[in-house]
Parts: sequence; C-alpha cells; structure tokens
Amino acid sequence: MKGNKFRILGIAIIVAILAVAYQAYSTSVEEDFNNISRTETYRMGDHYTGQYHRPGCPKLKQTYGGGKRFESATAAELEGYAACKRCDAAGPDEPAK
Ligand SMILES: [Zn+2]
Repeated sequence: MKGNKFRILGIAIIVAILAVAYQAYSTSVEEDFNNISRTETYRMGDHYTGQYHRPGCPKLKQTYGGGKRFESATAAELEGYAACKRCDAAGPDEPAK
C-alpha cells in the first residue's frame, strides 16, 4: 500500500499550500481595511447595498455604477444609507497631514 501513502501525502501538501495561500490573501485584505484613509470628509454611497463608505474602502471596489457622492456622513445618513462598519464610515475624520 505504498501508493496510498503517497496519495495522502500529496493531498496533505495541497491542503497545506491552499491554507497558506488563503492566510496570505485574508491578511492582505485585512491590511487594506486597516489602511483606509480617514482624512477625506466626503463619503461614497452604494445604491446596491444601501451602505456608505469612506472613499478608500476596499468594499467600494464592488460598487455597481460608481456610487453616489455625499459631502458628509450625516448627508448619507439623511438619505437612508447605513454606515459601513469595516471603514467606520460614521466615525470621525482625521485632519490631513
Ligand atoms: Zn466601507
């Protein structure tokens, strides 16, 4: 049963490679979220999800039709948009350096 042993080893190696690749992918996505700029005061609304984001939010890349620009988080809230939690769209802005 030597062949079976090698097959299991092969599968184990493939699973290990996939696990490492997935880890690297999710870490890079997490870094994108951690590095969102907070200096912009305007927000972008996503018609499709009903959420608004900071302009640098990675989730905004999935927006259909480019999104709608709001001059502030409050303006987006008034139109019924919900704040994205990943980019803390409702949070305070930081002064530009
Ligand atoms: Zn967002």
